[in-house]
Amino acid sequence: MRLILANPRGFCAGVYMAIDVVDQLLGMLDGEPFFVYHDIVHNRHVVDRFKERGVTFVEDIEEVPEGSIIVFSAHGVSPAVREAGARRGLTMIDATCPLVTKVHVEAIQYARRGWQILLVGHHDHQEIIGTKGEAPESIQVVDSVECIPGLRIDDPSKLVYLTQTTLSMDDASTIITALKEAFPEISSPPKEDICYATTNRQLAVRHLAPHCDLVLVVGSKHSSNSVRLTEIAELNGSRARLIDDVDDLDDAIFDGVDTVLVTAGASAPEDLVQALILELVNVHGCEVEQHDIFHESVEFGLPGSLRKFMRSRKVETDGRRIEMDDLAATNRFLELHGIPYTVVDLTVNATD
Ligand code: SF4
Repeated sequence: MRLILANPRGFCAGVYMAIDVVDQLLGMLDGEPFFVYHDIVHNRHVVDRFKERGVTFVEDIEEVPEGSIIVFSAHGVSPAVREAGARRGLTMIDATCPLVTKVHVEAIQYARRGWQILLVGHHDHQEIIGTKGEAPESIQVVDSVECIPGLRIDDPSKLVYLTQTTLSMDDASTIITALKEAFPEISSPPKEDICYATTNRQLAVRHLAPHCDLVLVVGSKHSSNSVRLTEIAELNGSRARLIDDVDDLDDAIFDGVDTVLVTAGASAPEDLVQALILELVNVHGCEVEQHDIFHESVEFGLPGSLRKFMRSRKVETDGRRIEMDDLAATNRFLELHGIPYTVVDLTVNATD
């Protein structure tokens, strides 16, 4: 059986940054308790590993003792959460992905100018809750074409759509096309809101899935971008399965499979992919190929709120970079385990 590894896959710059924030605090605080509002990223393993190291996750800011330290997750929060944190005297460290913050800023700017905003995304997703909270009177969430007739539009010439960063490009395109038909004057976001990592991982699956019998997506069920990768694989003619880890596999899934593609959502740790590779090679006799579709170079620095906090604790921040070499680590892993692999360069573009 052939095992194709999709590159890029797994952690994006925003997830590396958010995880690094919690790691840094664990190292600095040396047992002093701190809290994380919502899952730092949408992956069960990431959250469970931090819980085992003593981090407490909350879904309600009122649960956090006054004067404590709280980290906001990569998905961002609404101003109401920040205000509640300030009322409780919390030290707030913001691990929101800068690409989510960009959408918040767009929403604020349009709302201040008196525009209405149609926010394309999933009602119950933390990112949409946070963005909508920036200007609730001006924002309506659009999660399907069916909800368009129910929208309340005051002035169609002062109307813009923005989107969640982790949507399926195809689903977003369908909804946006319908919005443009319903409101021909609607404006587009100043810059694409679906982020580079979502775009690249989806394009890699779209490119590779038609040549595979099965696509395994490593990621958690509440990870929007992981679920979208699974859907895209199926839409492109392959069977697909979203798995949290290798334990979710069953032998029956490999019936009739000659080629399996492995990818991972933006919040899925690469060591879970490595464990999956080992299983596929050792138990199923797979031969490994790495198919490179994009080379990514996006990286984010430490958030300003963490730097400020570090300075307050007399911790040096200069010259610190977030380590982002998971795919190279997998090459080293393969070599360490004596697993031969070929690299197929299908690079079509670099999306930053
Ligand atoms: S998926 Fe995109 S928006 Fe979300 S954390 Fe990663 S880079 Fe940021």
